[in-house]
Amino acid sequence: MTKWLAMALLLSFSCQSPAAVVSQFITAETRQELRAYRLIKAIEPQLQQVYLALPMQHKLTLVYGAQDGPLFDPELMQIQIPYHFVTEVLNRFTKDEYQQTGVTPKQATQDALLHTLGHEYGHAYIYANQVIVLGREEDAVDTLATLLLIHAFKDGAEIALSAADLFALEDEDIDELVEGDFSDEHSLDAQRYHATVCLIYGSDPDKYAALLSTSAQKEDRAAMCEQEYARQSDNWERLKSRYLAK
Ligand SMILES: [Zn+2]
Repeated sequence: MTKWLAMALLLSFSCQSPAAVVSQFITAETRQELRAYRLIKAIEPQLQQVYLALPMQHKLTLVYGAQDGPLFDPELMQIQIPYHFVTEVLNRFTKDEYQQTGVTPKQATQDALLHTLGHEYGHAYIYANQVIVLGREEDAVDTLATLLLIHAFKDGAEIALSAADLFALEDEDIDELVEGDFSDEHSLDAQRYHATVCLIYGSDPDKYAALLSTSAQKEDRAAMCEQEYARQSDNWERLKSRYLAK
């Protein structure tokens, strides 16, 4: 047995968090999975901060190292995040030489993971509290994830920016849009990028002025993003107080 495999076998356990959320780590079986496991494990307090920022009463299990996902399964009340997803994200940021932005691929992957957990937690929160969502839930939980990061994390906008850049990188991989892209429950990656960047800009227009493109619509968009951020921040506060966990 190799040394890393022996270590991997020791790494399967579950732990009880302060909220009604339990984290489980599936045993990492390959070197890549072990790397993904360690990357997740290194930010466990921040991952907890995601669901502590918007606590809910219902029991929820986070399964890291699941086969499928990232997804929220309402029947099992589980959020599943596979190790291969973490590896794919890390590979994308590495290939893009993301360190040139001043953020390492590893850090960017951890940032994107926080946004992904916020997104899946949003689905769980909406389901558990029967929150009324008129419009696409996928867009609503993208917004929720970004607001949660900005409001509950120091440098949350920077974390969200890595997640936005991941959408941009995923968009770059698309050669041609097909009908399935338009009928998908998610917005297009390019739209997810722009929607996330819009909120980041709106949270601090001076700091993030360079994020908006220099197109003719820039001024309209700048005003729209500031309004959108203010509107959604009000919604964020209302959401937190309305479904307060006791
Ligand atoms: Zn989703």
